Amino acid sequence: MTGDRVRRAREAAAEGGADVLVLTPGSDLRYLCGYHAHAMERLTALVVPRAGEPFLVVPRLEAPMVDASPAGGLGLEVLAWDETDDAFALLAREVRARLGSDPARVAVGSRTWAEHALGVQRALGGAVLELAAPVLDRLRMVKTPAEVAELAAAGAAIDRVHARMGEWLRAGRTEAQVGADIAAAILEEGHVAVDFTIVGSGPNGASPHHELSDRVVAEGDLVVVDIGGETATGYRSDCTRTYAVGRGPDAETAEWYAVLQAAQAAASAAVRPGVTAEAVDAAARDVITAAGWGEHFIHRTGHGIGLDTHEAPYIVAGNALPLEPGMAFSVEPGIYLAGRCGARIEDIVVCTEDGVQSVNGGPRDLVVLPG
Ligand code: ZN
Ligand code: ZN
Repeated sequence: MTGDRVRRAREAAAEGGADVLVLTPGSDLRYLCGYHAHAMERLTALVVPRAGEPFLVVPRLEAPMVDASPAGGLGLEVLAWDETDDAFALLAREVRARLGSDPARVAVGSRTWAEHALGVQRALGGAVLELAAPVLDRLRMVKTPAEVAELAAAGAAIDRVHARMGEWLRAGRTEAQVGADIAAAILEEGHVAVDFTIVGSGPNGASPHHELSDRVVAEGDLVVVDIGGETATGYRSDCTRTYAVGRGPDAETAEWYAVLQAAQAAASAAVRPGVTAEAVDAAARDVITAAGWGEHFIHRTGHGIGLDTHEAPYIVAGNALPLEPGMAFSVEPGIYLAGRCGARIEDIVVCTEDGVQSVNGGPRDLVVLPG
C-alpha cells in the first residue's frame, strides 16, 4: 500500500509542477513509506523526483531501522551517509542523476525543519522551495477503510477513558492530579503515547487550549476535559466532554449548554459528500449565533485528524472544499464565558458514502459527576 502512496505522491507532485518532493521525519514520511523516524539534526529524507526512482537518505547508524520498518519492504533505494559526509550533497547528486539537471522547484514537508529545507535548497543550486502540502494533504485527508478502522479504534480507546472520568474528577483535587490519572488511563486503554490532557475547571474552561494547573476543582464547577493520544499505528484520538462536578447546572448554564449540544448535533448531521467544510462550520455556528451566544464561540468548528491530531481538512469559514467519503475530522463547537466557565463537545466523525459516522460514543450531555 505504501509503495502505491509514493507513486501517487509522485504523480500528484508532477501534475502540480514540482520537480522533486523532499520529506523529512514526521507524519508525511510515515504516511508515504511507513518509516516512523524521529526528527533530529542529521538529515533523513524520502526523496521523490519527477523522473527516476525515489530514494531514502538516512544516517548510516539508522539504516537498520529503515530495514526493520515497513519501508524496508518497499524496495526503496536506501542511501546511507557517514558522519563526515555531506548528506545534502549526496541528496543533490542523486536528484541531478535522475532528472538530468538541477530541479527548478523543490517541494518540502510543511514541518520539515528550516535547516534541512535550506540545506537542500543550497545543495540544489538555489531551486525554488515550496510546500508539499497540496500534494500530501490531498492524499492524506481521504482515509482508506483501514485508516478509518484505526481512527475508530483510537476513538473507542479514548471513549473508555471518558467513561471512567468519575474515578478521578471530583471536588478537592487539582487539575494536575486529575490530568495525571487521565494520562495513565490513556495509556492503559490502548494508546502508546499521550498527546494532550486538557482539564479546564471553572474559569479555566473558558480558555479552549488551557492544559492543566494547580487549581483545585470545586463543587459546582463545569470542567472541560479534552484528551487525546496516539495508537501503535500512529493514528490519533481527540475527544472532549464537559462535566459538572457535584451538582447539575443552573438554569442559564443548562440553557446555553443545550444550545451547544444542538449545534454539535447539527454540524455532525450536516456531514455528507459534496457538502463543503465551511458549511459544516456554519451548521454549528448558526445554531449558536441564533441563540445569542455567537460571540462566545471563538474558534473554528473542527480539524482533520489522522497521523496528526490537526491536519487537513479544516472545518472553518472560507474553506470551500467539498467533503468526500473517507475524510475524517472533529466537530467541536464550544461556548466560552471569560472569567466564568466554558463548555465544548467534540467527536471525530468520518464522511461516508451517504452521510456520517462518528468514531466516538458516550453521552454528549453535561455529565454530572458526584462531588
Ligand atoms: Zn480536542
Ligand atoms: Zn480537536
